[in-house]
Amino acid sequence: MIDLLLRECVLPDGGTLVHVAIEDGRIASVGGEAPAAREVIEVDGRLVTPGLVEAHLHLDKALLHDRVSATAGTAAEAIRLTGEAKRGFTVEDIRARARRVLDMAIAAGTTAMRGHVEIDPILELSALEAVLPLKAEYAPALDLQLCAFAQEGILQAPGTEGLLRRALTRGADLVGGCPYNDTDARKHIEIVFALAQAFDVDVDFHIDFFDEPEHLHVRDVIEATLRAGWQGRVSVGHLTELAALPIPDQDAVIADLVAARIGVIALPTTDLYLMGRGDVMNVRRGITPIRRLLEAGVPVALATNNVRNPFTPVGTADLADLPFLATVAAHMGSAREMRMLLDTITVHPARMLRLPDYGLSPGCRANLVVWDCATAEDAVATPPPRLLSIKDGRVTIEHERRLRERWRLCPTTPASPPIVGQPP
Ligand SMILES: [Zn+2]
Repeated sequence: MIDLLLRECVLPDGGTLVHVAIEDGRIASVGGEAPAAREVIEVDGRLVTPGLVEAHLHLDKALLHDRVSATAGTAAEAIRLTGEAKRGFTVEDIRARARRVLDMAIAAGTTAMRGHVEIDPILELSALEAVLPLKAEYAPALDLQLCAFAQEGILQAPGTEGLLRRALTRGADLVGGCPYNDTDARKHIEIVFALAQAFDVDVDFHIDFFDEPEHLHVRDVIEATLRAGWQGRVSVGHLTELAALPIPDQDAVIADLVAARIGVIALPTTDLYLMGRGDVMNVRRGITPIRRLLEAGVPVALATNNVRNPFTPVGTADLADLPFLATVAAHMGSAREMRMLLDTITVHPARMLRLPDYGLSPGCRANLVVWDCATAEDAVATPPPRLLSIKDGRVTIEHERRLRERWRLCPTTPASPPIVGQPP
């Protein structure tokens, strides 16, 4: 007798209906005869995917819409406006906002997340202190990984390197930099890698977040990755400058990303919102070339980044919004491309976060989502509610839909009004 049986599931690659059996928090079998189970859930031909994985979200500066009224016109302005708001943050305030965002993400089927916490002379370690206890609090529903992130720079914000070191000692899982917001990008990247090697942790950069290819710090990150032997342990977010390179140069960078096994995180809501601000006509999209990266074999994650702050005034923390958005923004409308996009919120970010035993095979951790639709393409084209979320074999979220179409209950159809000017 197994713990839980999901009957008649559709997997993302389609095919026949299968039963998914769960035992001791793991997938025991996929397909075959339905074994006896203590709990049986009729999935009834709906889509089942592994749990959604959020590769990049700022919990500490989310939900600032009630205190920052000014809107940002550029990334630099968003950094400045948020930097001012940060001076008023307290541990309790950060934790309360982080909880609200985690709750939103979990309700939408997210079972793992990489959160960035800002480490700088303004906040010192208070963002980490606020969010660190949430790892244990939310563990039954979501695995939270925390990146100690130098948003304000390292060299231009003296003291930050020491604070990053303390953050890694105190329990941050990885280290993150932002070379475009510093006085010496190369040195910034060197410091981040030195910390990564000293603490044996992964690296995540915000990088090349401009319209024109005027920085291309990604090349320095590629070099540093190879030098450190950190292949498969580095992710870069934004990378919007790549889209502005001529195709042969773009291909060269993409080939180097493949060789260094660096993952790319597109942040389409922020990128669409803050890029192209200098364009008066034919406003560019400012999104990294998602399709070309995927086709070359680069792991690509679509991630939320910000939820309602000067960087991104909208946000639901629902990852299903992002493949929907990318279908139109990145011109990926075929069924095959939509399936590729579903992977950008599941298998690709799982690889970047190096989540152990992730997937739908026997032996994988039973972190699963049941979508109220029949195919992977439907999940992208018409993001439906996530009816069930399962973490380590336990149902964590049940979503019931209730729609009453009361207009259909009208006893009689009212007579059509007479057409003006026509005899009755
Ligand atoms: Zn970010």
